[in-house]
Amino acid sequence: MTALTNLLDLDSAQLIAYCGELGEKPFRAKQLQRWIHQFGASDFDAMTDLAKSLRDKLSTRAMIASPAVLKDHTARDGTRKWLLDVGQGNAVETVFIPEENRGTLCISTQAGCAVNCRFCSTGKQGFNRNLSVSEIIGQLWMAEFELRKSKSIEPGPKGERQITNVVMMGMGEPLLNFEPTVTALKLMLDDNAYGLSRRRVTLSTSGVVPMMDKLSQECPVALAVSLHASNDELRNSLVPLNKKYPLHELMAACKRYLEYAPRDFVTFEYCMLDGVNDTDAHAQELIALVKNPRDSAQSVSCKFNLIPFNPFPESGLKRSHDERIKAFARILSNAGIVTTVRKTRGDDIDAACGQLAGEVQDRTQVQARMEKMAEYQKKFGSNFGRIVEIVK
Ligand code: SAH
Ligand code: SF4
Repeated sequence: MTALTNLLDLDSAQLIAYCGELGEKPFRAKQLQRWIHQFGASDFDAMTDLAKSLRDKLSTRAMIASPAVLKDHTARDGTRKWLLDVGQGNAVETVFIPEENRGTLCISTQAGCAVNCRFCSTGKQGFNRNLSVSEIIGQLWMAEFELRKSKSIEPGPKGERQITNVVMMGMGEPLLNFEPTVTALKLMLDDNAYGLSRRRVTLSTSGVVPMMDKLSQECPVALAVSLHASNDELRNSLVPLNKKYPLHELMAACKRYLEYAPRDFVTFEYCMLDGVNDTDAHAQELIALVKNPRDSAQSVSCKFNLIPFNPFPESGLKRSHDERIKAFARILSNAGIVTTVRKTRGDDIDAACGQLAGEVQDRTQVQARMEKMAEYQKKFGSNFGRIVEIVK
């Protein structure tokens, strides 16, 4: 018996080709795509405007399935986090962050990550594997329709959209899983699927320079770059990828990207680490890095998002104090750079972006690991590894 084709793996062109193989016209693929991505259907029998013969064919050859949900937690502030099983003891996280006028979904692109940044617990797990298209877009598919179900909102274009923004800021380095990531991005933008504007979809990268260029050509969505340091020596020690693509190359790549980007700025993420990268001198160095006082055309048009570090013991690092973060933000703002600080969210749901997924790798010891997490939280404060959101 041949394996069933998961239709969540196919973008619109591939779905047309797939339907072609079944002897169906392209408009059938469009109908099918709407059933899947706009109505959240997983049962072919529910697709009433498709011929019974086609539905029968599909049910013997295809399926529509996202990764199984291992855990589903909602915090008091409405932040909802799903832990998804991606096989072989690996799990990834998807986080929904509701705000007044929008709903943001933070999705993962890899189980683990090979970049191994010093301050990141996902990196500390090592690299497990790339997620497939269905595992990436499946996070949006599952979350959108689960959220609607919980609020009794009808599926389909008439029902109120729950997820208005997507950020690829969960586990993994999206540009090191390029093809599946781009296919998933294209589905997010597709009018027969989610129809999100390119401005509302943000990809965050640790700075894989050649792939930034490739992204600008294939699917230029909004870009966030994990900077975290103001000079090469420091960045080499925090983001090892910097040795391959140092700051001058990264800045040049950002400028090239901006020619195609849907927004006229790049967001630089900067994780605030006590005594490591958070002094006034580092802030001044950052200004010099992104701004050219003699020739503004040489500056990188950017915003800064300061992320208070979510500590974990193996890192040996500490979060900068709130006053320090404020002072750092002020220096950047005074230099004319729009700067935001992320605020914690989802305080009452356990564990963190990246961290909980690491915890379930060995499910036999969940209890012990949860206790360890509680101990960390006692030691490092209730913000240990919390989900965060961007605030002005
Ligand atoms: N791999 C991509 C996207 C996922 S990480 C990247 O690195 O950009 C999303 C953001 O969370 C990145 O800016 C990352 O540097 C940051 N991050 C990772 N670990 C963190 C921690 N312990 N505390 C605060 N931010 C962290
Ligand atoms: Fe990977 Fe991003 Fe974590 Fe670095 S910060 S290890 S690139 S997930």
